[in-house]
Amino acid sequence: MNYPLIERISTTIVDLPTIRPHKLAMHTMQQQTLVIIRLRCSDGIEGVGESTTIGGLAYGNESPESIKQNIDRYFAPMLVGLDASNINSAMQRLDKVIKGNTFAKSGIESALLDAQGKRLGLPVSELLGGRVRDSLEVAWTLASGDTARDIAEAEQMLDQRRHRIFKLKIGANEVAHDLRHVIAIKQALGERASVRVDVNQYWDESQAIRACQVLGDNGIDLIEQPISRINRAGQVRLNQRSPAPIMADESIESVEDAFSLAADGAASVFALKIAKNGGPRAVLRTAQIAEAAGIALYGGTMLEGSIGTLASAHAFITLNALTWHTELFGPLLLTEEIVVEAPVYRDFALHVPRTPGLGLTLDEERLAFFSRR
Ligand SMILES: [Mg+2]
Repeated sequence: MNYPLIERISTTIVDLPTIRPHKLAMHTMQQQTLVIIRLRCSDGIEGVGESTTIGGLAYGNESPESIKQNIDRYFAPMLVGLDASNINSAMQRLDKVIKGNTFAKSGIESALLDAQGKRLGLPVSELLGGRVRDSLEVAWTLASGDTARDIAEAEQMLDQRRHRIFKLKIGANEVAHDLRHVIAIKQALGERASVRVDVNQYWDESQAIRACQVLGDNGIDLIEQPISRINRAGQVRLNQRSPAPIMADESIESVEDAFSLAADGAASVFALKIAKNGGPRAVLRTAQIAEAAGIALYGGTMLEGSIGTLASAHAFITLNALTWHTELFGPLLLTEEIVVEAPVYRDFALHVPRTPGLGLTLDEERLAFFSRR
């Protein structure tokens, strides 16, 4: 039998403007940088993947520049000549010789799945065992840094039926200031919206004990990563005493982290991110650990563009339950597209294509225009 071989892997760094400055505790985004991966196969099929992080090295151990360099220098020579249709074999080979680098691995795994889906005429969700829904409800992050502006933005999203779940990025200011900001937004939106916070590890346990109580008492539905991923015992204690559920995000840097968090009882919700597990298939292993442990799921994002967002979505639509829905709004934060048809958002949800592969086509002209030289 003739197997299609991986012939060439190329990477491109793309810088795209955002609709407004996006304030996170560790970084303010003025643009987003994507690494686009193209995986050319001997049967003429090309798979496309994306490896994206936030704020250079502000979020994780990999930057766009290191992702590109590592794929070009170490991943590509390892993969060229392998059977492009055997994703297990290719990814196991990578895991054996390349430590960590889950963001880069996620883009490669996405590209292999996209190629195989195009080859077989199947959406990636069907390669992952089959979708059980066609759309995913999507939260929006209010991150202008200004309370009145955030409330106005939320009202606009509700009017447009685009989002009714809002996540607030807090932690950079004094706790009392952040709590006032969050409570004012919740009071303005009331029962019309779910309001949640993401602290991005910025509190210590002593701050988090009281803050989680106040947030829970004021109708905040979910508290994401209040304290450092390093303080495991503190996470376990907070998870026991917080009136609002605690979600682990930064605490999960690998499938193995998910297991040890579940074993310790450190969170009642897991944020799933393909980039932090090593791809759409890898993230489903974390989901299975959570399901077995009775931990609820949330579909997270690294604010990827359309390619990374749909790679995540194809995995998430195969899950039995996504109690806390998703935050796959990355493409909506960008003012420009590098694919021909942008993903469809309507009625509070992202609608996942049923066309082969990830369901996207690169717009070569726009890709070239926004590529970093
Ligand atoms: Mg987070």
